Amino acid sequence: MVRRTEQILKARAGKVIPNGMYGHQSVRLLPESFPQFFNRADGAYLWDSDNTRYLDLMCAYGPNLLGYREPRVEAAVARQMALGDTMTGPSPLIVDLAETLVAMISHADWAIFCKNGTDATTMAMTVARAETRRRKILVAAGAYHGSAPWCTPVPAGTLAEDRAHLISYVYNDIESLEAAAAMAGDDLAGIFATPFKHDAFQDQALADPDYARRARAICDAKGAMLIVDDVRAGFRLARDCSWSTIGVEPDLSCWGKSFANGYPISALLGSDSCRAGAGAIYMTGSFWYSAVPMAAALETLKILRETDYLEHMARLGERLRSGLAAQAGAQGFSLRQTGPAQMPQILFADDPDLRLGFGFAENMLARGIYMHPWHNMFLCAAMSEDDIEFALTAAGAAFADLAAVRATLKPHPVVSAMMKSRAAHA
Ligand code: PMP
Repeated sequence: MVRRTEQILKARAGKVIPNGMYGHQSVRLLPESFPQFFNRADGAYLWDSDNTRYLDLMCAYGPNLLGYREPRVEAAVARQMALGDTMTGPSPLIVDLAETLVAMISHADWAIFCKNGTDATTMAMTVARAETRRRKILVAAGAYHGSAPWCTPVPAGTLAEDRAHLISYVYNDIESLEAAAAMAGDDLAGIFATPFKHDAFQDQALADPDYARRARAICDAKGAMLIVDDVRAGFRLARDCSWSTIGVEPDLSCWGKSFANGYPISALLGSDSCRAGAGAIYMTGSFWYSAVPMAAALETLKILRETDYLEHMARLGERLRSGLAAQAGAQGFSLRQTGPAQMPQILFADDPDLRLGFGFAENMLARGIYMHPWHNMFLCAAMSEDDIEFALTAAGAAFADLAAVRATLKPHPVVSAMMKSRAAHA
């Protein structure tokens, strides 16, 4: 496939954007054929800069929850756009939105709005420290909480001091959690946990309820803050904080990505246990009060309460999962499909350098399905049974192609080097 516009854009970007692109949306660690640029998106579909259409199983890495350009959300956005967005003070919508989230999220008594997930997680850490007047924060090894110096997975340009008071533990491992808490002694400010283990390049793991309860108990015993980072999973597991599904209430929860269906807003929600800490800190931003994303959030949250979007996504996810497993098996492949079906991680068994995963994703892309070879994917409510059938028809042919060329597949040089170094460290 010749992609003229993509090639021209990539050449131009290489001159004016470091590495041609940055961060999680750079295609540097994706198969060669993956497009970097997209012209538009609608419902469950994306069009690249050469106007090739894809069923999008990445959903913008999470923000697309109801479908791109969901009509009710777009109408709410247009209404607020006509009134004002970024002004000298917030619009009344900020109060409506805080009230709505406090009503929906069981543990929450207050809300602060910001822009990105990293704003919310960094603020959670700051509030926990301000509330407890302590320093130590427990973080699960390998968990992603954002790209600020304290949490970025790529340490270039950061200092060991930025992470000086973080103590790492192993997700779902109660003994290691207890050891980390003991190490913090009477200086424990908080424990971070994602709702389930959703680290890149690995199988996902649901939270062990005993681990979640132990984290709560440690925080209660020590007067520390339990922080659930719901930025990625928020509203894809529950219409409440994700750990409500296992009966564990945090003091703080971090939200972003999806709750305004793609409009730029994130939130830190907290309980009365740390209202004073939240009132003591100073964190802000020029765009943290903008009204348009709040209008989008209010309408999105209304749709979440009124529809079966969640059950629909889970049902489609299960259909995709079982269909892929059967098709893979028929061609002599075995898949490791982990995590909630609506946030699937799909890896091949016996694929240490991911060459099968890359080959499969590349083949699926050529058939109009955008899948990720090593990051968890996302379903959205705009997907239909027909879309899943479209993906499965493509997958049936892709597995057959893959079986035929299996012996000739080559690993991606950067990714296979990374996987080797991970294996050596494990
Ligand atoms: N926490 C989690 C669990 C995330 O998945 C992400 C983003 N992938 C973040 C925090 C950071 O969010 P953002 O990229 O919006 O800063």
